[in-house]
Amino acid sequence: MGSLHVLVMPFPAQGHVIPFMELSQNLVKHGFKVTFVNTDFSQERIVKSFTGKDNVGDQIRLVSIPDGLEAWEDRNDMGKSCEGIVRVMPKKLEELMQEINGRDDNKITCVIADGNMGWALEVAEKMGIKRAVFLPAAAAMMVLAYRMQKLIDDGIVDNDGTPIKNQNFQLSPNMPPINTANLPWACMGDSTAQRLVFKYLLRNSISITVADWLICNSTYDLEPEAFTLAQTLLPVGPLLASNRQANTAGHFWSEDSTCLEWLDQQPACSVIYVAFGSFTVFDKAQFRELTLGLELCNRPFLWVVRPDITTGANDAYPEGFQERVSTRGLMVGWAPQQKVLSHPSVACFLSHCGWNSVLEGVSNGVPFLCWPYFADQIFNQGYICDVWRVGLGLNPDERGVILGEEIKNKVDELLIDEKFKARAMELKEMTALNVKEGGKSHNNLKNFIEWIKS
Ligand code: UDP
Repeated sequence: MGSLHVLVMPFPAQGHVIPFMELSQNLVKHGFKVTFVNTDFSQERIVKSFTGKDNVGDQIRLVSIPDGLEAWEDRNDMGKSCEGIVRVMPKKLEELMQEINGRDDNKITCVIADGNMGWALEVAEKMGIKRAVFLPAAAAMMVLAYRMQKLIDDGIVDNDGTPIKNQNFQLSPNMPPINTANLPWACMGDSTAQRLVFKYLLRNSISITVADWLICNSTYDLEPEAFTLAQTLLPVGPLLASNRQANTAGHFWSEDSTCLEWLDQQPACSVIYVAFGSFTVFDKAQFRELTLGLELCNRPFLWVVRPDITTGANDAYPEGFQERVSTRGLMVGWAPQQKVLSHPSVACFLSHCGWNSVLEGVSNGVPFLCWPYFADQIFNQGYICDVWRVGLGLNPDERGVILGEEIKNKVDELLIDEKFKARAMELKEMTALNVKEGGKSHNNLKNFIEWIKS
C-alpha cells in the first residue's frame, strides 16, 4: 500500500492552473501522490516555461489530454473552448483514469475538479470514485452558478443567457451589484460565444451537484454573505505559494525575475505594479493611453507587458516612451507576481482584478487600482472598491477608453489618502489568520484532507 492518489483537473487557463498547483503541493505535503491533468496545449506551454525554480517535485505527475481544438485554434475564444472540452475531454479523462488504475498500484482515490469542470465529477461518479470541487474564484461565483436557472425563470436572462434588459441585481444585500451586461458569460465575445459559454456553465451548475465536497480559494471574512448563501462550500484560502515561502508553479510564460533586483533599488512603498493577468488584450489606442498614464504619474512602475497583451504589434509603445521612462519604469514579459506583491517597494497594484491577483494583493496589504477586463473581474472590483474599500476603480470616457489623465489622478488619489493602505493592511492581517494553525481555512483544508484519507 503506497500513498493515496488524487487526480486534479483544472480548467485550462493560467488563473486556474496556478492555484491547482498550490492545492496539489498542499496535498503532497500531507503524503498524497497527485496526477495533475492539463490539456495538451497548456502542458506544452507549462513545460516550455519551466525555469529551474518551478520544481513541482516527484509526487506531482503532469499528464495531458486533448482539449478538442486544433493546434491553431484560438483558445481565448471561450465558446469554442467550452464546446471542445465537452466534446472530447470526458471520454479522454475516463480512458486516462482507467489506464492509470489498470497499471498503478496507487489507484485514484479522489478526483478534485475545477468548479468549471463539473463533467469530470460525473466521470468520477461513474467510476465510483470520491469527488470534490475546488473553485479558484470568489465564492460568489458559486452562488451565481446556483442562481443561473433562477435568472432564466425570473426573466432576467433568456434561455441563451442574453440579458433581457440592462439592470442591476444582487446575490445578497451586502454583496456588490451585478449588471446584467457584465454577467460572466455576457462579456465573452459575440452572441455565439455567449450562448456556448452559458450552455456550458448551466450544464456545469448541475454537474457540480454530484461533488461530495466543495472547497474554494477564499475566506469567510472576505465573503461572509456568499458563504451564507452557499453553505456547503468551504473556504480553504488563500492558498498561495508565498504562505509556504515557495515559488508558484505552472506558469504559461517564463518568469523574468530580474525585476526583483530592480525593485530592491526603489524606495519603500513607491512602485506602481501594473499587471493584467493572462487574458487581457488592449487595442492600440488603449495601450497608448496606459503608457501615457504611466508617464504622467511620474512615479516608479513595474509593468507586465505580456507578448500578446496588445493587438497593436511591436511598435505599440509611443515613440520615445521606453527612453523617457527608462530611469523609473521597467517592463517585463511575465513577473514572479506573488514575490513582486510582497516586495516592500510596491505601493499599489494596477490590476485587472482576476481572483488570484485579488487574493495576492490582499494577502500583501497592497491597495488596488481596478481595471477589470471581463468575466468575474468586474464583480471582484465591487468587493475591492465598495465592500473592503481597499481600492479605486478607473472610469472610462464616453468611447470606453480609460485615459492617461484618469490613471494619473486615481493613482494620486489612492496613494495620497492613507486610509486605503491602512485598510489594506487590516485586511491582510485578517486574511492571514485564516491559513494559520487553527484558522478557519486551515481547519477546512485539514478536514478535507481527512475526508479524502477516510
Ligand atoms: N501572474 C504571474 N506573473 C505575471 C502576471 C500574472 O505570475 O506577470 C500570475 C498571478 O500571480 C496569478 C495568475 O498569474 O496567480 C493570474 O490569475 P488571475 O486570476 O489574477 O487572472 P487571469 O489570468 O485568470 O485573468
